[in-house]
Amino acid sequence: MAKRKLVLVGNGMAGVRTIEEILKEDKDRFEITIFGSEPHPNYNRILLSSVLQGDTTVDDIVLNSYEWYEENNITLYTGETVEKINSDKKTVLTDKGQEVPYDDLIIATGSNPFMLPLPGADKKGVIAFRDIEDCEAMIDASENYERAVVIGGGLLGLEAARGLLNLGMEVDVVHILDHLMERQLDQTGSKMLKEELEAQGMNFLMEHGTEAILGKDRVNKVSFKNGKVVKADLVVMAVGIKPNISLAKESGITTNRGIVVDDYMQTDVPDIYAVGECAEHRELVYGLVAPLWDQGKALAKKICEKDAGAGYQGSILSTKLKVSGVDVFSAGEFVDSPDTKAIRVQDEFERIYKKIVVRDNRIVGAVLFGDTSEGSKLLNMINTKTEITDMSQFSFLQANDGDQDSLVADMADGEQVCGCNGVSKGDIVTAINEQNLTTVTEVKNCTNAARSCGTCKNLVQAVLEHTLGDEFEQVDEKETVCECTDLSHEEVVAEIREKGLSHTKEVMNVLGWKSEEGCSKCRPAVNYYLGMVNPTDYEDEKESRFVNERMHANIQKDGTYSVVPRMYGGVTNPKDLRTIADVADKYDVPLIKLTGGQRIDMLGIKKEDVPNVWKDLDMPSGYAYAKSLRTVKTCVGKDFCRFGTQDAIGLGIALEKKFEMLNTPHKVKMAVSACPRNCAESGIKDVGIVGGEGSWELFVGGNGGTHLRAGELLCKVSTDEEVMETIAAYLQYYREDAKYLERTSHWLDRVGLAHVQSVILEDTAKRKELVDRMEVALTNLKDPWAEIINDSKKKNELFENKKLTVSQQ
Ligand SMILES: Cc1cc2nc3c(=O)[nH]c(=O)nc-3n(C[C@H](O)[C@H](O)[C@H](O)COP(=O)(O)OP(=O)(O)OC[C@H]3O[C@@H](n4cnc5c(N)ncnc54)[C@H](O)[C@@H]3O)c2cc1C
Ligand code: SF4
Repeated sequence: MAKRKLVLVGNGMAGVRTIEEILKEDKDRFEITIFGSEPHPNYNRILLSSVLQGDTTVDDIVLNSYEWYEENNITLYTGETVEKINSDKKTVLTDKGQEVPYDDLIIATGSNPFMLPLPGADKKGVIAFRDIEDCEAMIDASENYERAVVIGGGLLGLEAARGLLNLGMEVDVVHILDHLMERQLDQTGSKMLKEELEAQGMNFLMEHGTEAILGKDRVNKVSFKNGKVVKADLVVMAVGIKPNISLAKESGITTNRGIVVDDYMQTDVPDIYAVGECAEHRELVYGLVAPLWDQGKALAKKICEKDAGAGYQGSILSTKLKVSGVDVFSAGEFVDSPDTKAIRVQDEFERIYKKIVVRDNRIVGAVLFGDTSEGSKLLNMINTKTEITDMSQFSFLQANDGDQDSLVADMADGEQVCGCNGVSKGDIVTAINEQNLTTVTEVKNCTNAARSCGTCKNLVQAVLEHTLGDEFEQVDEKETVCECTDLSHEEVVAEIREKGLSHTKEVMNVLGWKSEEGCSKCRPAVNYYLGMVNPTDYEDEKESRFVNERMHANIQKDGTYSVVPRMYGGVTNPKDLRTIADVADKYDVPLIKLTGGQRIDMLGIKKEDVPNVWKDLDMPSGYAYAKSLRTVKTCVGKDFCRFGTQDAIGLGIALEKKFEMLNTPHKVKMAVSACPRNCAESGIKDVGIVGGEGSWELFVGGNGGTHLRAGELLCKVSTDEEVMETIAAYLQYYREDAKYLERTSHWLDRVGLAHVQSVILEDTAKRKELVDRMEVALTNLKDPWAEIINDSKKKNELFENKKLTVSQQ
């Protein structure tokens, strides 16, 4: 029977979760097509705050990788917006001119940030906080500017402000009212929160109405209605969201504040549904994820013609603030009213405040500040309308002594552990027992607990520990490669060596992988380990690589590609520059940009032109997309700079020529500066070299990205040869010892500099072995661009066969 065609508009959290629920209900029912305006696969928007605060990276917040869409036969169009729904013809039309038919259509277009219509709001440097691009704009601004103003003292504004403080900016938070997070906190909680954040360095302008954004092209000041003016190089507006209903409205679907839906998320147009922040259910629109999951479940059952029961019945909201060092929880009704009574505990020494709002002997709301450990218990009591009259004492009002085990033991089975995803203690215990789960990751993947804001991770771990008893420690100490195996990275590498395994399928078969084909996490890791262990014999499996590595180019937000040719040490010449200019003219390259690593990036190249651009350039690949040596940045050094004592360019070129194309667990960046003024920024590179009179200092583990980390001094050597040899030993040890996708900075944090020094500096035999193995690894490397240009089959597969990759379409 032909599958029904299901189109999802909006590749965000609610829409894709609904698709996951549909796949769970009936994975063969639909031929699924997804359109997303953003140029990314589905990611965890909630964790943008953590990205900004430097606790995680954009790569780590992807919820569904491109490979996931491929594995589930979903056609994904990123960077493509649906502009019209023709409900008579049952098709959608996109901004790229596609018309795609549907039998069923789900609208999950989310919300747009509300931007205050202030004079000057269109100036450069005025942004919202909604997506990856906003997050990147803030990180970029922090590198060039000093002062930020965040308008809005709600959850989002405070999380943005904390992130900007972490990025080194001075931050003023402007709030129109006299208390922060007024939609979640009462006056007392709000006052304590403000004091805490002020102690962290945040400055507040309370009861300030913003009047205008000043500056020429870019913002430089913000003025207020009370006459005050403050300096600002960046303005982040976090004043609320508006459901994104324009597509539905223009297509004749009934809308109010949101797209009006019934209890099964059905709109008033047949076969068209809406979920997420764009949907209005019983006159309510939601701005948090927990309701969206319930909506997705109800819709999945309905659309798969399963018993949908009463459908979606609405949600009680709870919120946690994701600012490190500040624990805030709020749920339900938290403001006193004539028919409510409140129980309050306030400890000004410990800075703890707990308030429980009761109506007719039932808890209807709560605020917790300083100790939020019993938030889920309270949320459960609110949701289940628990009577409090019979309770002899309110243990949840006592300060928690940190004993998670007794907390878990006291929890009822129906009590929620993960508020974001509505997962109870009982759900987790059942999953652990029935599916033999042993790690938090397994619980997360199986139940969705801790998959959103992550603040319940410790509680999930406590439930796991409580359920498994003694077994817990032994099994959870190990971080497995992924859910397909119980083996850790180290164990997989050891087994490959010991059993002489030579192919990913063989590894999965012999080592008892739980899924035959592996998944998008383990396949690239195993492929790397096999290549690292057998550098001469192993044939790299391109299909196991991440998509940018498969294409040997970085996919851009609009589906085009960027091409960066190799430019050893950042040095170029008139001939190469002319070639680049000619190629840029010939292929209409819209943007040519110098990268932070001193290379030339040609951006906006059409997919079908990529191999021809490589051919016409006739230069090696710059590997700007790869887990490999990216660039060696150099300063001008002794030949041109009056401070230079060493030949930084010469050494940089030699290093890049030696280690280019080498496969490494993650990207590796290097820099060589010829004196401690450090113009090549050697202190924040994976390997940074700084020249002195007759010597070179080698720094390792630096990182200039989100996890800013200064490099540590590995050693001081006298000659270029010693530099080369030491780096060969260091990189080879990193290749062999780090887990796949572990940057050198994280690896060094894990194993410690002293340990690395003992292996590569003090143990001369081991050092020699490492250097020898590096030499072997460096043979047999081939430039991928040249290979593809000369192989028409590969070229066709990668750049002309539309089915092969999903992200570029
Ligand atoms: C920084 C931040 C922190 C947050 N923290 C929390 C938190 O701690 N807890 C919590 O519960 N919630 C939090 N939220 C809110 C939560 O992220 C949202 O509730 C959730 O993402 C909404 O999911 P959605 O799918 O409805 O919308 P979205 O995730 O916004 O997805 C909608 C997608 O549809 C796309 N789209 C729109 N129109 C079209 C079109 N016509 N064609 C194609 N694509 C289209 C959009 O580009 C977008 O990618 C936070 C939000 C932000 C921004
Ligand atoms: S690092 Fe020193 S030698 Fe190199 S350019 Fe800067 S000042 Fe000159």
